[in-house]
Amino acid sequence: MRKISKVTAMQRYAAECGRSGTRVALVPTMGCLHAGHMSLVHKARKQVGPGGRVVVSIYVNPTQFAANEDLDAYPRTLDRDLADCRAAGVDVVFMPSDSSMYPDRERGGYSTYVNEENLSASMEGGSRPTHFRGVTTVVAKLFNIVRPDVAIFGAKDWQQAAIIRRMVRDLNMAVKITVAPTVREADGLAMSSRNANLSPAERAQADVLYRSLRAARAAVRAAGSVSAAKLRSGIRRVFKTAPLAKLDYVEFFHPDTLEPVRTVSSGTRMALAARFSRARLIDNERL
Ligand code: AMP
Repeated sequence: MRKISKVTAMQRYAAECGRSGTRVALVPTMGCLHAGHMSLVHKARKQVGPGGRVVVSIYVNPTQFAANEDLDAYPRTLDRDLADCRAAGVDVVFMPSDSSMYPDRERGGYSTYVNEENLSASMEGGSRPTHFRGVTTVVAKLFNIVRPDVAIFGAKDWQQAAIIRRMVRDLNMAVKITVAPTVREADGLAMSSRNANLSPAERAQADVLYRSLRAARAAVRAAGSVSAAKLRSGIRRVFKTAPLAKLDYVEFFHPDTLEPVRTVSSGTRMALAARFSRARLIDNERL
C-alpha cells in the first residue's frame, strides 16, 4: 500500500493509471475509519476488480467546518486507519496537508470554491450554512487530483450524496457515483467517527435517532400515509426519552430532489440531526 501526501505525486499516480487503462475507485473520508468506511472500500474493490486501484483519501477538510464547529475536536486515528486500509487491500491512501490542498488560504491566497445552490440549502445546509460549499469544493478537488472512474459515498450522508451527484451532472465530471448503505451498531446507531465524542451516558441514549426513524417507518407502514406534522410530534415524544439529545431538525423529503413533503408515504425519506454535548449526529432512512 502506498501512502501519498503530495498533491503532485497523487496526480502523477493518477496519470499513470490513466495511461495504462487501470480503473481507479476513490473513497473520500475524513479518517477515524470504522466498519461503515470499510464497507465503502469493499464496494470500491468490487467496482474496479482485482486489477483496478482503490484509493482512500483521509483528509479532515477545514473548509466544511464553520469557525464554531468541531474541526479541532474531530477524532484523528491515523496509525489505526492505515493498518485498517492495508488489511482491506487498499492500494493508495492519499492524505494531503492543508497547505497543499488550500495554498495560502489563511492569507486569502486560496479563492476558488464550488457551490451547489439548490439541494444544499435545507437540512444540514440550514444548520451549517457553509458546510456543503466546503464539501463540494474538496470533492471536486479530489476528483481532479485522483481522476477516479468511480467514487463511493455512504447513504448515511444522504444529502451530501445527492449534492455530489448533482455537482457531477451539472459540471460534466466523468466519474460514476455509487452510494452504499448505512452500517449500524447493534442498537441501530449509525456508525460515525463522531460517536467517539459521546460520553458513556450519551452513547446509551444515542440510539434515539434510529428509534425515531423506526417509529416513523412503523407509523407510515401502518397507516399508508401520515402528515409530516403528526410524525414530527411523535418524534419529539421519542426524544423525551433521551434527555441528553437535543433534536436539531427532522425532515421528510423526496429521495432525489430533497423537496420536503407534507404527507409522508412509503418511499419518502426522513433525515434528522441531534446535538449532544460534544457531538452532533445525523441519520436518515427510507420510510
Ligand atoms: P466521513 O469520514 O464521516 O466524512 O465519511 C466518509 C464517507 O463514509 C462518506 O461517504 C460517508 O457517508 C460514509 N460513511 C460514514 N459513516 C457511514 C456508515 N455508518 N455507513 C456507511 N457509510 C458511512
